[in-house]
Amino acid sequence: MQSLAGESVVVIGAGVGGLSTACYLADAGADVRVIEKNEQLGGRASRLERDGFRFDMGPSWYLMPDVFERFFDTFDRTPSDYYGLTHLDPHYRIFFKDGDQVDVTPDLERTKDVFEEYEDGAGEALERYLEKSKENYEVGMEHFVYEDRSRLRDYLDLDVARQARGLSLLGSMQGHVEDYFEHPKLQQIMQYTLVFLGGSPKNTPALYNLMSHVDFNLGVWYPEDGIGGVIDGIADLGRELGVEYETNRPATQIKGREGAFVVETPEGPLRPDLVVSNADYPHTDQELLSPERQGYDADYWESRTYAPSAFLLYLGIEGDVDELAHHTLVLPTDWNEHFDQIFEEPAWPDDPAYYCCVPSETDDDVAPDGHSALFVLVPIAPGLEDTPENREQYRETILDDLSENTGTDLRGRIVLEEQFSIEDFADRYNSYDGTALGLAHTLRQTALFRPPHRSKRVDGLYITGGDTTPGIGVPMCLISGELTAEKVLEDHG
Ligand SMILES: Cc1cc2nc3c(=O)[nH]c(=O)nc-3n(C[C@H](O)[C@H](O)[C@H](O)COP(=O)(O)OP(=O)(O)OC[C@H]3O[C@@H](n4cnc5c(N)ncnc54)[C@H](O)[C@@H]3O)c2cc1C
Repeated sequence: MQSLAGESVVVIGAGVGGLSTACYLADAGADVRVIEKNEQLGGRASRLERDGFRFDMGPSWYLMPDVFERFFDTFDRTPSDYYGLTHLDPHYRIFFKDGDQVDVTPDLERTKDVFEEYEDGAGEALERYLEKSKENYEVGMEHFVYEDRSRLRDYLDLDVARQARGLSLLGSMQGHVEDYFEHPKLQQIMQYTLVFLGGSPKNTPALYNLMSHVDFNLGVWYPEDGIGGVIDGIADLGRELGVEYETNRPATQIKGREGAFVVETPEGPLRPDLVVSNADYPHTDQELLSPERQGYDADYWESRTYAPSAFLLYLGIEGDVDELAHHTLVLPTDWNEHFDQIFEEPAWPDDPAYYCCVPSETDDDVAPDGHSALFVLVPIAPGLEDTPENREQYRETILDDLSENTGTDLRGRIVLEEQFSIEDFADRYNSYDGTALGLAHTLRQTALFRPPHRSKRVDGLYITGGDTTPGIGVPMCLISGELTAEKVLEDHG
């Protein structure tokens, strides 16, 4: 077995990718210290706790339970050693803004009936779509997600090339979904999960139809204590393996080289043999490294397609919000305009497509008695002007929209309110232009076209997390930790 005994590693950033990498490296015998600029572990999966309310600030959908099982199993544990899971029913609810409402439930037969009501044959089309999506998930996870093919020559292997063709990698999601469903609402239902990948139906490769297998078949779950409970579990596992954590300790520079790094921090330098950065890639590359050590130039980062930022409202509400499910989407019947206002002509969306999360529907501990915890997430373009006036105006737009389209009137019942948007993403997470998620999964930013785990110029420096492979999302960042640790072990084990 490969060993890192005797190697010291500093992991910069305690997001999911950083926490995961730390577990693998500590398990291989390295002496691992994670430093995090913010006051808590979890990165974008931070928690907001105030006046008896508790919110997951970022991720709230626990998807791909198989990935978490595999992660904990590597260390001879199971997720249930750290947290319980509740299968949500419905998985989510959709309000279309013409008064129509759909629940996507764990019962596929029920969902097929719902699809059939919109279009003759759509129930059977859903079954075929999900079969393809399952196949893509299985092939994709085995050949392209858990195996990191970071070089073009990795794709020249005939078997791999055949698998990639089978995945219909190149078409757009829009075209793929149109092959199965004509009704615009059914197309929207199948495409909404792309927002999780930071893309739009037009710029995301059809490969990602595997996401439908994720939300329809594998299910949507709620972990005990929310996603924060999962972060606690991974951090506890790390402690058991010997990882040390320090919060409120930002890295300001990465100097030195393999075997003799200097990680500068305001509290003094750290001197590890190896460094893993989980901070966003552009920040690591452009701000923590001196120019001759950077893997890319400023033009490269400027030319990338970034996933949306978000306008978030965390609301403590007096009374119930029964109209909303734990996860609820509110969608305009024509959402092209919203996607255009994210990717083509950036502006605060006039007719927003947004997401509401009500964890108090499932968890009594997230709000005081007689109250509900609700957060609203509106994807918006990164880099927009984010002023108190914009926010105030937009808050009113959202409260009006919620009332009009879901019947949930919050005015006069809001006892706690926090907002979080573009400037906060940039400040809190050092994210480029305030993107909420990092590099979008466009075709040119998928698989080997994402920046690599090994620094291009600095031996002994590795990068992990959502900007590298496999990509965005809590499960993907857990896997990113595994792939990064594999590279470290290949080089030093
Ligand atoms: C609003 C929102 C909703 C989401 N919803 C979902 C969902 O429902 N399901 C899902 O699976 N995923 C979801 N995601 C995506 C998911 O949260 C992310 O993809 C994932 O958590 C990112 O992990 P990461 O490893 O890239 O690290 P990050 O979370 O990006 O963490 C990086 C860490 O590095 C720290 N850092 C930065 N610079 C420095 C420095 N100089 N020194 C020290 N530390 C530094 C940051 O403070 C941060 O803690 C959502 C994200 C957001 C923002």
